Amino acid sequence: MRVTIRIREVSTGKEVDYYQEVEQEYLDSERFYYEDGNGCCDCNRKLMFGYGQGINFSDEETPCGSTKYEVRVTVGDRVVFDELEVK
Ligand SMILES: [Zn+2]
Repeated sequence: MRVTIRIREVSTGKEVDYYQEVEQEYLDSERFYYEDGNGCCDCNRKLMFGYGQGINFSDEETPCGSTKYEVRVTVGDRVVFDELEVK
């Protein structure tokens, strides 16, 4: 199923969509991945922010952190995790 990750760069407000095809058996863990897993880290979020624009950031350009990027994760048409509406 298609998973859409919308990533917002906090400093600019710019939002980019990144798409992934995820097997049915892994869909349940999508929310966890972005809430508590590796997907909650700025390093991975910035990578996806880049991929969504056809940019491949290097390791030096993707430091860890938890303040620079916010995401909304949509599985099919169902929002499973949303930090963008909080503001
Ligand atoms: Zn990290």
